[in-house]
Amino acid sequence: MARRLSLFFVALVFAACTPEDPRKPAQPRAAQPPVPAAELPADPFSDGDRGTKADPTRSRPLIDGVEDARLLLEQPEWGNAERLANYCEDSIARAQIVRRRLQQAGRADADVIKDFELLRREVDTAEGLASLMFNTSPVKQVRDAAQKCEQDVAAFGTEVSLDRALFRALAAVKVEPLDALSKRFVEHGLRDFRRSGIDKDDATRERIKAINARMVELTQSFRRNINADVKDIAVDAKLLEAMPADWLANHAVDEQGRVRVTTNYPDFYPFETYVADDALRRELYEKFALRAFPLNKPIIAEVLKLRKELATILGYPSWAEYIVEDKMTGSAATVEAFITDVASIVRPRAVADLEELLARKRKDQPGAKAIETHDRFYYVQQVRKERFDFDPKSVRPYFSYPAVKEGVLDLYAELFDLEFVKLEDAPVWHPTVDAYEMRSHGKLIGRFYLDMHPRENKYSHAAAFPIQSGTASGRIPWASLVCNFPNPADGDGKALMEHSDVQTYLHEFGHLVHHLLGSHKSDFVGLNGFNVEWDFVEAPSQLLEEWGWRPEVLQRFAKHVDTGEPIPAKLVDKMRGAEELGKGLANQRQVFYAAYSFFLHSVAPDSLDLDAFTDEMYAKYSPYPRLENGKIYCNFGHLMGYSAIYYTYQWSLSISKDLFTRFAREGLLNKETAMAYRREVLEPGGTKDADELVKAFLGRERNLDAYKAWMQKAPGK
Ligand SMILES: [Zn+2]
Repeated sequence: MARRLSLFFVALVFAACTPEDPRKPAQPRAAQPPVPAAELPADPFSDGDRGTKADPTRSRPLIDGVEDARLLLEQPEWGNAERLANYCEDSIARAQIVRRRLQQAGRADADVIKDFELLRREVDTAEGLASLMFNTSPVKQVRDAAQKCEQDVAAFGTEVSLDRALFRALAAVKVEPLDALSKRFVEHGLRDFRRSGIDKDDATRERIKAINARMVELTQSFRRNINADVKDIAVDAKLLEAMPADWLANHAVDEQGRVRVTTNYPDFYPFETYVADDALRRELYEKFALRAFPLNKPIIAEVLKLRKELATILGYPSWAEYIVEDKMTGSAATVEAFITDVASIVRPRAVADLEELLARKRKDQPGAKAIETHDRFYYVQQVRKERFDFDPKSVRPYFSYPAVKEGVLDLYAELFDLEFVKLEDAPVWHPTVDAYEMRSHGKLIGRFYLDMHPRENKYSHAAAFPIQSGTASGRIPWASLVCNFPNPADGDGKALMEHSDVQTYLHEFGHLVHHLLGSHKSDFVGLNGFNVEWDFVEAPSQLLEEWGWRPEVLQRFAKHVDTGEPIPAKLVDKMRGAEELGKGLANQRQVFYAAYSFFLHSVAPDSLDLDAFTDEMYAKYSPYPRLENGKIYCNFGHLMGYSAIYYTYQWSLSISKDLFTRFAREGLLNKETAMAYRREVLEPGGTKDADELVKAFLGRERNLDAYKAWMQKAPGK
């Protein structure tokens, strides 16, 4: 999922906290000349006509020479870089006008609130479009314009977040008489301002700025050092027979009959999974664990000190305490308790996994004492193969892209009472992209694109990109799915997907539906869509993955590409059993990462001995002993983007397991349950705390029982 700005930009102050890849820091824009009052933008709450009425003459430019978002979205010219650049500049110019209006003292509270909303809204579409185009446009000039736009919007956001006149204007608003949503908007805005240090004196704010600038540099260096440090080993080609055929085809054998295997993921993971030779697997793993050492050691040490200094300046006892304040967890104590709880839940399952894997390892090495880090992929794969006799290739003929594409749309349509109407004539940025409207009983909910196949210069993972946030008064939300699934136009035309692709589609489409359905409850775009707490945002999508494991769901669309036979229930069960094998170990590993990232930011960095700390974390939380000389603090990339909050993965997973209990009880395809979920969890977007949403749907406080039951259940049982 592509993460967006917070309520109004303040999230960008700590660029290192967002999980996106850092880009070149943007240059601050020159101050805009004053604009005559007659050209001031319209009331943001009256823009209901922008998205709902068909008459294009109604979407007049707000100020001379400026297009509005609706015109740009409904009559797009995707290959026109100049239009995107102009629109972006105009958006920021309009936002600057609003900003200057907000800097004036003594305005009515209602006007101040509206202008804060307008400030965000003016750049909302530019930012969304730019992010999408940077990642998908086949036209280089458009990608360049999009990149510049993203940087300009980010720079504007930083300026806004540091603007004390704006903070004073918001702080002067009397909260008491406000309605609940306006109150939430103001309170979140003030919280975000304070978290950026806006209420500190000039010297302190200068120091904060300097720390943030330094953090951007350090983050980029840390990542660059990991990416650049590619180590390798030379392996006798005869020892690589178990590697996948396409991997072998892509790796040349040298004159001595050896193949170069690197620590890059496309080499590392299959090698650790399939190669039987213990010493070789260990050798490559040891190199992998040494990436970016020693270069990143002083960098992580400095990062930890700067984060601690920032937290102290802002009045928090630790960075961990600071960073969780605006999450569901809210306090370091809650995260600590969670880590302790899940650690004790996964341990028995992990111990059982270790015993099973060790018994298998002893067939190869009688007297083997332990399963070690470099065994973890290989022996899971061996036992998986032997116990479940499952070959992932065997399900691919059931997942032909055209059938899966329609099947997933149909599933969502049925569950959530939606209609997906393909817009046959809509202009798109590439011939393989499809445009849709999402409707419910004829009412337009939102519009979206499916950009589903790989091509050059396109984003190489899978994500839902919000293009525009919607509002209760009729601003239509837009989004796009960007994936890399097989293309029916290639090869034999069957476009067979892996089951993991089907899961990815269910997951990302879940984000998209959340964004569109969640955009109609308030007139604050920052409270709509999937602008929920960071540690909740994955839960709804993780929940939807459950449908991809059920025969009764898969059989609706997973039909053999040659025979039309629905996927056998037994095959689905086998697939699930194989998938769950080793789940104790895999999840304990996740808990280890969570503990490592969290406690690293809880301890005092000045007296921290990174190696002693690492030993302690391994002893307490890891299912495997630390690899000798392993330097996780140099190559654990999430320490930059996620800092202390790697726990969010397990946290949202535990919530998705809890949410699923009601579906498990009432039926996966039970429409009433699904509609209750739509109403209580998806539609409110970020207008309520996630805890409230979950409680409303479950009819009780959430708990870890479902996560525990799932973890205790043996694979294949
Ligand atoms: Zn996601």
